Amino acid sequence: MYKEKGLLIVLSGPSGVGKGTVRKALFSQDDIKFEYSISMTTRKPREGEVDGVDYFFKTREEFEALIKQGKLLEYAEFVGNYYGTPVDYVRETIESGRDIFLEIEVQGARQVREKFPDGLFIFLAPPSLSELRNRIVTRGTETDEVISKRLQTAKEELEMMDLYDYVVENDQVELACERIKAIVIAEHCRRERVAKRYKKMLEVE
Ligand code: 5GP
Repeated sequence: MYKEKGLLIVLSGPSGVGKGTVRKALFSQDDIKFEYSISMTTRKPREGEVDGVDYFFKTREEFEALIKQGKLLEYAEFVGNYYGTPVDYVRETIESGRDIFLEIEVQGARQVREKFPDGLFIFLAPPSLSELRNRIVTRGTETDEVISKRLQTAKEELEMMDLYDYVVENDQVELACERIKAIVIAEHCRRERVAKRYKKMLEVE
C-alpha cells in the first residue's frame, strides 16, 4: 500500500517579526492537523516555559554532543545560544504521513532547505516591509540616518525571502494563521503530489 509522506513545513523570517506568536496562535486552534517540532536550546527557560513543551532545554555540552552524534536536522547560534531541531521526530512524523511544522530562524531554515528541498518554506514578513515606503514618504519626520537604516533592513529582508515558497505578512496574527493554513491545504492539493498518489494507487508510472 502506498503511503503518502507528510509535509515538512518551515515557518521562518526576520528576527522580531512574530514567528513565535504566530506559531503559538496556530497551535492553539483545534483544527490544526500538523505536529509541532519542539526545538532544543541552550538558553535558560523563561518564566512559564516547560521543558519538553516549549523547548528541550540543554546545556552547551549536551547540545554539542547531539551535534556530533548527528541528532540535529539543523542548528544555529542565535544571540549567544544554540537552537536546533531534533532530526528523529521530524523523520518519524513525515514517514508516518503526518505533517510537521518547524518554527526556526533563517540560518536554520537555509540548512533545512538544503536537506529537504521539497519542504514547504513560508517566510513571515513584517508589515513594515510593505508599509515602509508609505511611512517614509508620509511621515517625513525620520532623519536620513533612520530612513537609510530602515531601507537597508528592508533590503536584507527582501533578499532573505528568495529561499522561500510563500510569503505571509504578519499584519494581524489571526490573518497570518489563516494564510498559513490555506497554504498547507493548497500544498496538499498540488498536482505532483496528488498525481503521484493516484499513479501508485493504479500502479502505473
Ligand atoms: P526564543 O529564544 O525567543 O524562543 O527564540 C529565538 C529564535 O530562535 C526565534 O527566531 C526562533 O524562531 C528561533 N528558533 C527556535 N527554535 C529553533 C530551532 O530549532 N532552530 C533554529 N535555527 N532556530 C530556532
